[in-house]
Amino acid sequence: MHFVVVGNSIAGIEAAIALRNRDAHAKITVVSYEHDHPFARVALMYIFCGQMRLQDTEFYDRELYARMRFERVRDLVTGVDPVAKRLSLKSGSYLHYDRLLLAVGSVGRRLPWPGAYDQPGMHHFVTLPDLEGVNAMAKPGMTCAVVGGGLIGVESAEVLHLRGLKVHFLIREPWYFPVALDNAEAEVVAAHIRHHGLDCRTATPIDGMERKGGKMVLKMPDEELPVDFVVGAIGVVPNTKFLEGSGIALTPGGAIDTADNLESVSTPDVFAAGDCANVTWPDGSRRPEQIWYTSRDQGRAAARAMLGDDVKYRRGTWYNSAKFFDIEYTTAGFIPFAAKPHKHQGVGAPGEEAHWQTWYQQVPGQAITQRIVCKDGRFVGFNGLGTRWDHQVFMRWIHERRALDWVLAHMNEARFDEEFVEPFRVLPSATLVDGA
Ligand SMILES: Cc1cc2nc3c(=O)[nH]c(=O)nc-3n(C[C@H](O)[C@H](O)[C@H](O)COP(=O)(O)OP(=O)(O)OC[C@H]3O[C@@H](n4cnc5c(N)ncnc54)[C@H](O)[C@@H]3O)c2cc1C
Repeated sequence: MHFVVVGNSIAGIEAAIALRNRDAHAKITVVSYEHDHPFARVALMYIFCGQMRLQDTEFYDRELYARMRFERVRDLVTGVDPVAKRLSLKSGSYLHYDRLLLAVGSVGRRLPWPGAYDQPGMHHFVTLPDLEGVNAMAKPGMTCAVVGGGLIGVESAEVLHLRGLKVHFLIREPWYFPVALDNAEAEVVAAHIRHHGLDCRTATPIDGMERKGGKMVLKMPDEELPVDFVVGAIGVVPNTKFLEGSGIALTPGGAIDTADNLESVSTPDVFAAGDCANVTWPDGSRRPEQIWYTSRDQGRAAARAMLGDDVKYRRGTWYNSAKFFDIEYTTAGFIPFAAKPHKHQGVGAPGEEAHWQTWYQQVPGQAITQRIVCKDGRFVGFNGLGTRWDHQVFMRWIHERRALDWVLAHMNEARFDEEFVEPFRVLPSATLVDGA
């Protein structure tokens, strides 16, 4: 059996390792184009800042391929012929497979303005070539715009600011990072970003862009903003253009449509995992998950399916952590999208009546907040800014269906950094409101 894995990032490499751990004799080939070794894409900004070298972000030792007896092909896949079971490579050669895993990740979503990409100056911050492009462009003293208020947007704004550029951070929505934060939390982060000297503007739609006198001029309803270059951070899309016309079913958004076992819905012996895979969410909706640990889990699940196991991939309880400048962010469980504050997303059956409550507090004068969401009196989700929390403790409490009072009384058990930060305590200003 020849297993071919395209992509050596978290989904692809975890799948390849899982295949080898179960099958000592199979031929396993790992194909990717960006870097010889798996590296943590989540650390791209640290490389840009000079705080880490690319090699520091490699999450396995460099002997991995030899130890696992992986064949390594460093090339770009330009097409798949599922009838001949053959990949075409940019180098002009072909690679045959018996079972194929596509773990090709994402690329930055392109900004929709006509002519935006016709000349240099439009960048993204998702792949290593993106990093090289921004790195070559960004010089201290320049002016740039970061368009889009998600995680990649805030990280891009931060590192460009650190390099000495004047940064306009432009967000269409009324709140910063609306998929993860509510209005109060978003305002805490936005105020912090402004405090660092960035021009952080929410509720700022951009109608288009034109080039004038060597500048890119962003057109907003009441203003034209000239900048030296733009970083587009309006999300990512599956990196699957090379599959168009292959017969492998893609969703309208370009994700590889998979069955519960992560095999293509259209094409036997072709599997997908990670950012590029269309999967079923716990609430039954279908879209890519596009985060690090779910990509890892999908890679491992896809490997089992490729080996013939009866697999049904479903993500468990959601969790994640990140940093907005120096503000730590932890989330666990169900936190409704702030952009739709009263829509229940992913908890309970559709149409189910439930009593939702939200407990919230902010430490006065500090960028420290905690939000606890309860459904029918039971803890279902946590969002925290400004201090580090152990999401595994919260996930246990969610599964144990703890009551709000119990959670508040035990919060210090979920803390990291006890020696640096004041212990958690319920403040007189804490609020408890109906709704989630
Ligand atoms: C700046 C940044 C910060 C992030 N921060 C976080 C975070 O804090 N927390 C979090 O959970 N997630 C974060 N993410 C998202 C996370 O990095 C992704 O969800 C994860 O990397 C997806 O893994 P993957 O294996 O599916 O694909 P990717 O990591 O995108 O890797 C794709 C692989 O496929 C290869 N490839 C692609 N196309 C081809 C082709 N045609 N031929 C050959 N090889 C190909 C690439 O070389 C690469 O090896 C961040 C992403 C970025 C860009």
